[in-house]
Amino acid sequence: MTKNIPSIFGCMVFNDEVMRERLPVQVYKSLTKTIATGRTIDASIADVVANAMKDWAIEKGATHYTHWFQPLTGVTAEKHDSFISPVGSCKVVMEFSGKELIKGESDASSFPSGGLRATFEARGYTAWDPASFAFVKDGTLYIPTAFCSYTGEALDTKTPLLRSMDAISTQGLRILRLFGDTTCKRLNNTIGAEQEYFIIDKEIYDKRKDLIYTGRTLFGAPAPKGQELEDHYFGPLKTRISAYMADLDEELWRLGINSKTKHNEAAPAQHELAPIFETTNMAVDHNLLIMEYMKKIAEKHGLVCLLHEKPYKGVNGSGKHNNWSISTDMGKNLLDPGKTPAENVKFLLILAAIVKAVDDYQDLLRISVAHAGNDHRLGTHEAPPAIVSIFVGEELEEIIRSIVDGTAYKAVKAGIMDLGIPAVPTFRKDTTDRNRTSPLAFTGNKFEFRMLGSSQNIAMPNIVLNTAVAESFKQFADALENAENFDEAVAKLLKDTFAKHMRIIFDGNGYSEEWEKEAERRGLLNLKTSVDAYKQFDLEKNVKLFTDHGVMNEIEMNSRKEIYFENYSKIINIEALTMIEMALRDIIPAVNSYVSDLASAAAAKVAVLADIDCSVEKSIMAKLSALNAKTYRDVEALKAAEADAAAIYDAIERADAYCKKVLPAMEQLREDVDAMEPLTASEYWPLPTYGDMMFRV
Ligand code: ADP
Ligand code: MG
Repeated sequence: MTKNIPSIFGCMVFNDEVMRERLPVQVYKSLTKTIATGRTIDASIADVVANAMKDWAIEKGATHYTHWFQPLTGVTAEKHDSFISPVGSCKVVMEFSGKELIKGESDASSFPSGGLRATFEARGYTAWDPASFAFVKDGTLYIPTAFCSYTGEALDTKTPLLRSMDAISTQGLRILRLFGDTTCKRLNNTIGAEQEYFIIDKEIYDKRKDLIYTGRTLFGAPAPKGQELEDHYFGPLKTRISAYMADLDEELWRLGINSKTKHNEAAPAQHELAPIFETTNMAVDHNLLIMEYMKKIAEKHGLVCLLHEKPYKGVNGSGKHNNWSISTDMGKNLLDPGKTPAENVKFLLILAAIVKAVDDYQDLLRISVAHAGNDHRLGTHEAPPAIVSIFVGEELEEIIRSIVDGTAYKAVKAGIMDLGIPAVPTFRKDTTDRNRTSPLAFTGNKFEFRMLGSSQNIAMPNIVLNTAVAESFKQFADALENAENFDEAVAKLLKDTFAKHMRIIFDGNGYSEEWEKEAERRGLLNLKTSVDAYKQFDLEKNVKLFTDHGVMNEIEMNSRKEIYFENYSKIINIEALTMIEMALRDIIPAVNSYVSDLASAAAAKVAVLADIDCSVEKSIMAKLSALNAKTYRDVEALKAAEADAAAIYDAIERADAYCKKVLPAMEQLREDVDAMEPLTASEYWPLPTYGDMMFRV
């Protein structure tokens, strides 16, 4: 069946085209101006927009509307209200007012607020974000909103994100003005987030409590085959996966999401989806929808999508690559170096701003990707190290060196690729190879931030990137706006900035041990665990950054810090309790049954033939009995560590205890259980194996 993709693309979205078609000209103009400039909506047009939205949504099958928001849980939240409004005693009409579109009130008391709001101060507000298009999904009109407390503090990830977009635009425009651009009114960040995920058969998934409660396997001996043959990466798609991906693409296209690239990833049953880049707030909303639909569509195919950063030990986990750039309101990409970057002063200044931002705020970038799940990946030779550094490529690094050393720049010539096959055309190579281990890599006309975990909301990494770069722009503009000799001032600024921040540039192997030592010599941070990272969040310089640019105030920062620690402790606590339950109720009893059946079998054999060889039974019984006893002691130790940690009142000390005491106890328990698995007959082992999970899709 062929489908007309252009006709279904975005058909469930109240986008620019629909607005132009359905709104009176004046209203349309006023609304698009609001969107383009990031200004507040004119209240007088809200009723008209709301009514048009409602009529359109009803045609798409909607009966309800919801303010859709991003509380600090990391996932989205929604509460549905129907459009019905009673007329007389037995009739209804469908209504939706401007007031209902612009503002929603909801009980905020059950969302994490990190002490921002006590339960008795329950009021929370949602406010329409007109720059993110509304859409219809499952019979409901979804209105993207920001979420704040009664006192106006942001209780979500979207509000600071929108503020950070304003900050980088405001400061970036000052830089453009210095170079004579008088027309650009707004700078936009663009984001393309490549999303990795695992797929597992639903029937197998349902037999694993660890996957159900925590999203990752807490036990499991390695399968005979892992990813060592490297036969999965970019391999042909299996029929079932291919059908799933086709369905997923179509649903995403209906929602106006530019799902573009799909392929198998390195680990068995691991895949990736990449959309085409778009403005940051849309990209964030869309990434959340992509994650939601990955799960939802999987169910329809008898599959489950795992978004956890490390579902399986011993094979690669899943991350997210956040491709980030800045462009003008006319769509000109400011990170495009042009053909001769060495002569492109504006580009070099922007590059210097980014290099400086990454060095000055290494800690915040690290914190923005810190998450209990992501700790299993960073620094383990499958994802970038926990040390933040930046890769600019050979050509730019040469340019930077020549600026710092004051020497002439010799252009790096891109070679011609000739494969020596007459039928294959030659082509020009890129001026630089890729660096796969770098946390933040320049890839031609954008930076790729590669430390993100697959399950994370991409808002925070972008809030940090935007605000940190806004601060560099601000300092540069302050220095250059009143310079007597602009050219000289720029040259000096470039030289000073690159010289000072050279240490953050690294093009070698980020996985190597030498880099860890070298980074230490350079004075770079190496915040190995999330807990170590979170502690740096409210350093004075970081508070100053966010408050100076109006992205978060101190109260909002404190609340986030508290939630970081709380969330971390809760995740490890659930994992510990799940392990205890699985060990005590499933694994230990299963091994006991097997051992006792072996004993009965041996006894039966001896009854028939007194000197029969029972060495196999005896050997397995001895090993398993010893390991099972050890497992039981591990459980007791884990219980004690968990109880001790849970009893600690201070949130930071508690998270420390979960990280340093509970996690090692969990690892010990896993080690002993995983040693029993290969010794226990398949029919007794209570859990699907790694082989079942990764190779039976
Ligand atoms: P890779 O080879 O890095 O895996 P992909 O093609 O899978 O590359 O993904 C690259 C991502 O970068 C895509 O989502 C793409 O839309 C995005 N991208 C391209 N140009 C820009 C830009 N100017 N700003 C932000 N993202 C961009
Ligand atoms: Mg990539």
